[in-house]
Amino acid sequence: MEFGEFGGQFVSGTILKGIKEVETAYEKVKGDPEFLAEFHRYLREVANRPSLLYEAKHLTAVLGGAKIYLKREDLNHTGAHKINNALGQALLAKRMGKTKLIAETGAGQHGVATATVAALFGMDCEIHMGLEDVLKQSLNVYRMELLGAKVVVVQDGQKTLKEAVDSALISWSIQSDTAFYLLGSAVGPHPYPTMVRDFQKVIGSEIRSQLQHCENRLPDIVIACVGGGSNAIGAFTEFIPFSNVELIGVEAGGKGIETQYHAATITKGKVAVIHGMKTLCLTEADGEISPVYSLSAGLDYPGVGPEHAYLAQTKRVTYVSATDEEAVQAFELLAKVEGIIPAIESSHALAEAIKRAPIMKKDKIIVVNLSGRGDKDVKQIARYRHIELVD
Ligand SMILES: *Cc1c(COP(=O)(O)O)cnc(C)c1O
Repeated sequence: MEFGEFGGQFVSGTILKGIKEVETAYEKVKGDPEFLAEFHRYLREVANRPSLLYEAKHLTAVLGGAKIYLKREDLNHTGAHKINNALGQALLAKRMGKTKLIAETGAGQHGVATATVAALFGMDCEIHMGLEDVLKQSLNVYRMELLGAKVVVVQDGQKTLKEAVDSALISWSIQSDTAFYLLGSAVGPHPYPTMVRDFQKVIGSEIRSQLQHCENRLPDIVIACVGGGSNAIGAFTEFIPFSNVELIGVEAGGKGIETQYHAATITKGKVAVIHGMKTLCLTEADGEISPVYSLSAGLDYPGVGPEHAYLAQTKRVTYVSATDEEAVQAFELLAKVEGIIPAIESSHALAEAIKRAPIMKKDKIIVVNLSGRGDKDVKQIARYRHIELVD
C-alpha cells in the first residue's frame, strides 16, 4: 500500500487494465523535467499562478490574536484549486495519446475544470453527474455544455457523486483505448491519490516561499477543508517534514457530528474500500456506505483520500469539523470585513481559524487555504438565511 495500510488498487478487469496504463505513464512523466516545465507553464499562463498569499489584516484585527494569511486559490482561472489538477492530468492524457477526457462531478466544479482543459487542448469531454446534482446545479451543467462537454445524467442509487464516479469508471472501462479518466480529488485507486497530490502540492510550496518572503519564517498553522482532500494535501505536503508547523484538516460537520447529517469521514469513519481505495469511510452497521450530508456540495463525500487516513492515523495532521452554521458565519464574516466571498467549502477552514486565532499570541501565523470563490454559493446561503431572491 502507498500510505501505511491505506491506498491500493481495489479494481478489477478492464478498469484495472486502464489504471495500470495510467500508472505506467505517470511513472514516466513524474520526474521528467520537460513534462514538469510544461505543467508549470500552463499553471502560470492558464491557471494564473502563483496565487496571492493575502494578509487578512481586518480579519486578524477583528479576531484579535494570531495573524491570518489567506492562500487565494479563489483567484485561479475557474475559481478554485481544481484547475491545477485538471491541467496536470490533461497534459498526461495528451502524452498518452488520448483524445477524450472522462470525469465525474458532484456540484459541477470539477466538471467545469475538466471541460475547460478539454476545450483548451481540443479534446472530447464526457462528464458524469447524478440527476439530483444536475437539478440543483443547472447553471454548471450549461457551463460544461458551453465548454463543449457532453453531460451524462446518472440515474442510479442516490443519484449523486458516488454513483457518478461508478458510472464514469464503467464508461471509461469500455473506451480506455482513446479516453483518459480525469479524477477530481486525491481519491480512487493508485496512482490517482499520489498524482493529484503531486499536481496540487504547488499550493503549499508557494505558501512557503511567499511567507518566507514577507515574514521570513514558516507558518505556525496551516488549515484547509477536506472533502476528498486534494486542496488540503496540496497545502500540507510542503510542510509535512516540519514538525513545528501544525496542520489542520476541517471536515464538513453538517448539522452536527452527533447527528447523521454530516460528512466527517475521518472523525467518524471506519476502514473500508470505496472507489478502488482502502481508506476511512462513513458506513452503516451492515457495512453499506452511508448517505452523507453537508450544506457544501464539495465536501459531501463519504470517503476521503487514503493519504489523509494515514496522516490522521500517524497524527501528523489533526482533523476537526465545522458545522454548516459555523461555515456560514465564517462566509459572512470574511465577506464583510475583507470584501472576499469565499466558497462555502473554504469557509469550513476559515471557521477553524476563527476558533483558534483569538486564543493565540499576536506573533503567531495561521495560513488558511481559501480553496475557491463563493459566487456559486451565494444563492444557497441566501436560502439558508431565509432571504428571498427574485430571479
Ligand atoms: C471541490 C472543492 C473542494 C473539495 O475538494 P478537495 O478535493 O477536498 O479539495 C473544496 N473547495 C472547493 C472550492 C472545491 O471546489
